[in-house]
Amino acid sequence: MNIHEYQAKQVLKGYGAPVADGVAITSADQAEAAAKQLPGPLYVVKSQIHAGGRGKGKFKELGADAKGGVRLAFSIEEAVAHAKEMLGNTLVTAQTGEAGKQVNRLYIEDGADIARELYCSLLVDRSVGQTAFVVSTEGGMDIEAVAEATPEKIHTIAINPEAGVTAENIAAINAALELTGDAAEDGKSLFPILYKAFVEKDMDMLEINPLIVMENGRLRVLDAKVSFDGNALYRHEDIRALRDETEEDAKEIEASKWDLAYVALDGNIGCMVNGAGLAMATMDIIKLYGKEPANFCDVGGGASKEKVAAAFKIITADPKVEGILVNIFGGIMKCDVIAEGVVAAVKEVGLKVPLVVRLEGTNVELGKKILNESGLAITAADDLDDAAQKIVAAIA
Ligand code: GDP
Ligand code: MG
Repeated sequence: MNIHEYQAKQVLKGYGAPVADGVAITSADQAEAAAKQLPGPLYVVKSQIHAGGRGKGKFKELGADAKGGVRLAFSIEEAVAHAKEMLGNTLVTAQTGEAGKQVNRLYIEDGADIARELYCSLLVDRSVGQTAFVVSTEGGMDIEAVAEATPEKIHTIAINPEAGVTAENIAAINAALELTGDAAEDGKSLFPILYKAFVEKDMDMLEINPLIVMENGRLRVLDAKVSFDGNALYRHEDIRALRDETEEDAKEIEASKWDLAYVALDGNIGCMVNGAGLAMATMDIIKLYGKEPANFCDVGGGASKEKVAAAFKIITADPKVEGILVNIFGGIMKCDVIAEGVVAAVKEVGLKVPLVVRLEGTNVELGKKILNESGLAITAADDLDDAAQKIVAAIA
């Protein structure tokens, strides 16, 4: 689950991280009162959407010459003018896709005088099985581009979970970021704070880009992008309360209500599979035969008929879907339950696109019988290869 920048900063502030004062607003009428709460004379007006690259982003409605989604203001009047221009418009950034995202919320922040922009993130480094800091002196820009062009400028410091952030770890991070004096002192408290927040709140990513050294030599968290492990949300009521469903894909929200692992993708072939590994293999083989999957969908083991029907409805509700491939290996999941769920869903929502079903495993004969006797136009397939070729041929 992702949250907004201002919420992420609130969470980090709770742990004692240095963030600027700021006020979130949802209408331009609130801008003046918000700015008046801040010391000035520099304000920053920041679009709150679940996507990065806002500074370099462009508003669809405002033309190429207009300023981006993060703007500096040198007076309260200017901050208000920016708020009026930005709210309600659609921001397109490198991360939003062409459709962009409507800006319904702004964060007005006390501006900082920046001496250096650094990069600092925390993630779970699966290659070493530890949480790791990834840091670079090249902050404020696209870190993927830095990794590509100058990989030696990116440093990874893994943290031993038993020891926590040690003095050696801090020294290594400070050295990698070339921090000295007050900034290095600030690092001594900040890096353990970030680690504690990451672990305690079950984050799966915490990205501060940029972490800045201010003109006064102190560190400040200038931007914050956080995502949480969805499987751990049940134990963080405070974090769940930060969810903003307007930022999420409607199909993914519906899927999460049914506890379905569903991720919307850009292709045309809808997939319903059991097991994440088989779902990945199904997506791969669709690509192998020249088409793209419209989604990842794992209905899991032991799903009910109702859950299968819900998954099928979510898949068919996607207007991009031109054909559907159901690929089930019945182990814990029984093939007849899948068949009943598919038939029930099709009877309810209809079937406007070709449907190829490959069933194998527990109760496969019963499952095939249910499909055959349903009177629905379903193409049966024998194995994964056959199924992928049939669905690709059906929509070609
Ligand atoms: P992003 O574009 O979505 O990553 O948004 P950021 O929060 O990272 O802001 C983009 C850029 O705006 C930063 O890299 C800074 O260069 C600039 N910026 C943001 N806040 C301030 C500030 O308080 N003072 C100054 N001078 N620049 C800022
Ligand atoms: Mg940023």
